Order: sequence, then structure tokens, then C-alpha cells
Amino acid sequence: MPTPIAHALGGIAASCLIVAGSSLALRKPASRRVMEAVLARTGPWRGLAGLAGLGVLPDVDLLLGMHRSVTHSLGAVFLVAAVAGGIAPAARLSVALTAAAAFGSHLLLDWLGTDPSPPHGIMAWWPWTNQFYLSDTPLFMRVCREYWSLDCWRHNALAVSREIALLVPVTLAALLVARGALRRSNPL
Ligand SMILES: [Zn+2]
Repeated sequence: MPTPIAHALGGIAASCLIVAGSSLALRKPASRRVMEAVLARTGPWRGLAGLAGLGVLPDVDLLLGMHRSVTHSLGAVFLVAAVAGGIAPAARLSVALTAAAAFGSHLLLDWLGTDPSPPHGIMAWWPWTNQFYLSDTPLFMRVCREYWSLDCWRHNALAVSREIALLVPVTLAALLVARGALRRSNPL
């Protein structure tokens, strides 16, 4: 499965694309004012850190001893969207979709990962089914946890390099698209 670095980048990239789409789609001035107020209040860096955190959040289940199950499912994505939309003061749908995209990106990246330990993959369709799913064509290398071995550190360095090479260009492109869309929807 990918490292937290990949998940943080994935969370930012996926949510930026939703922000771009929703900022162009929001025609109502009141909703736009709310989006502007949210952005002004969080600031760009804190906002990006929050989205990156949402991208990493599903792996909190490592602490619970039930890795890659409930928190790695569409059910959890719906729950995150409902909570985010519920606590948003307005523009609830945009906030819910943005949070869902950041959190849901984790599922996509893990599905595209390498998982040698059974059950392979993630419980993507819970609560509809408890089956685990994994892509046949992995993009990301597994994370080695035999930290006492030098080969393990070499392997993880290679895995992170691959993630950065694949995801940094995508994330930068998504940031540029979101910035352009926000500017276009708020002409001075
Ligand atoms: Zn995960």
C-alpha cells in the first residue's frame, strides 16, 4: 500500500479538482461568499494541510488493529461527507464533496497499491459487502515494515520516489486548475 506521503498528495489533488468544479458551478452569490469566507478563514496552507490529513485519515485503523476494513470503504466516505456537510455553515454540498474526495482518494490509491498479506486489498464496498478488492495492475509499491533491515529502507526510499514522481505532477496540476477556477469564478 502507498505511504502517507502519497495519501497526503492524493487528498490534495482529488479535493482541488472538486473545489475547481464546484467554484465554477456555484452561481449563487451567497454560496460563493461562504466559500470565500471559508477559504479566507482557514488560509491556503491550513486548508491544504486539512485536506492532506483527510487523505491520510483512513489509516487511523492501524491503531485499532483492523487495517484496510471499515475506514477504507465507501460507507466511510459517505459518513465523512455527511459530517463535513453537516458542520459546514453553508455551501454544504461543496464542502461535503470536497471532504469526500480527499478521504475517498485514499481508497483509490490503496486499491492501486501492492498488498502481499491476505486478505489482499481494501473492504471498498462495505457495508454492502465485506469482500476485499485490489487492482490487478498495481501502481504503487508496498511499504516495508522490517525497519531493522537496510534493504527495507532502500525499498521504502524507492517506493516514496515512485509515489513522488507519479503524484507531485498530478497534485501541482490540480492546484493550478483549482486556482484558475477560483479566479475565474470571482472576477475582480
Ligand atoms: Zn490505507
